[in-house]
Amino acid sequence: MTVRTMRAVLAAHGTLIVVACSESTTGVSDAALPDAAASDAQAGEADAAVDASASVRPWIDTHAHSVGIHSACNTQACVDAVVATMDTFGVKRTILLHPPSPSNTSVANCEKSVRDVVALRPDRFFLGAGGCELNSKIQATVGTAVTQEIRDSFGSRAQALAPGAVAFGEMAALHVSYEAAHSFEEITPNAKLFQDLADIAATQKIAVDLHMDAVKQTMTTPSYFTSKSPNNPAQLQGNTDAFSQLLAHNRGARFVWAHVGRDTTGDMTPTLVDAMLAANTNLFIQIHPTFAPLKSTNAIVADETFAIRADWLDLLKKYPDRAVLGTDVFFTGTETDAKPLKAVQLFLQGLPVDLATKIGCENPVTIYGLPSGC
Ligand SMILES: [Zn+2]
Ligand SMILES: [Zn+2]
Repeated sequence: MTVRTMRAVLAAHGTLIVVACSESTTGVSDAALPDAAASDAQAGEADAAVDASASVRPWIDTHAHSVGIHSACNTQACVDAVVATMDTFGVKRTILLHPPSPSNTSVANCEKSVRDVVALRPDRFFLGAGGCELNSKIQATVGTAVTQEIRDSFGSRAQALAPGAVAFGEMAALHVSYEAAHSFEEITPNAKLFQDLADIAATQKIAVDLHMDAVKQTMTTPSYFTSKSPNNPAQLQGNTDAFSQLLAHNRGARFVWAHVGRDTTGDMTPTLVDAMLAANTNLFIQIHPTFAPLKSTNAIVADETFAIRADWLDLLKKYPDRAVLGTDVFFTGTETDAKPLKAVQLFLQGLPVDLATKIGCENPVTIYGLPSGC
């Protein structure tokens, strides 16, 4: 299927094409946030940088959600619709994860909810485990002494959740809030339970998917977020140095830094990511090609052509084995699913073909130890 054909498929949905091309294609946070996404909208069709003769490129989405604060996709009909959308945009496999739950979230059946969706199409989905139960246990230790009893309880649950999973996640070290119903979460990446998780991940040989909005040094919270949500504090604490300490704690643990290229703080630069990758051989990056929410010049793409910026392309060429792709889409089984997937397909079209193959298909298999690839 060519990109031109892909557009024709979209056009066949009538008014859908207008929606798909005039709104932000990004899931900007860990909840489906249509208001936030709409505020980041830019008009114009998303095709300027695309080679219309190129084939749709295959890829693996390493970060997607079947449940969020505004969405749920847990029926066979919904999953079938999602798989059809994946097929349109070249997505061969998808890792589903629970969003990083805060400490006050009920954990009853929340892990099972993702596992059950994966079981509906095990040929197309892989499981990320612990985003609800393990992350909430980690967040609950903020400001408290982490006793051996807490560590033992956490460790036993992590061991119990590992079978069948290709990743622990989505975990959060810093997760800014986009609206009142959306959690703010902040804990040092080098917290004791993150260290314990690293040790278990290394033993189990599965990766950790970590959401950490980048903060080099304590900063005033960007006004974009304090205006969006009362949950955000006035300041954000530095976290990149502590992340390096966590990575050094166990080099056998593979950490995938989620949403790299999506600048939420002003610190998400290719220079910072280069330094982190150079210093930490067990760090991998999950590219989210978006200019939302800040439309920052640091973002990996500048607009809805989703063409990669030159400095970010240099970074990917320097570390071709270290990057994967993640949409952060919140599946609904409707046309809204198409927007984030289309964005990544357009992004892939703009990469050299060998790099697109590495990042889209080969690296996920290596980094997550997937039993099957594209
Ligand atoms: Zn997410
Ligand atoms: Zn996230």
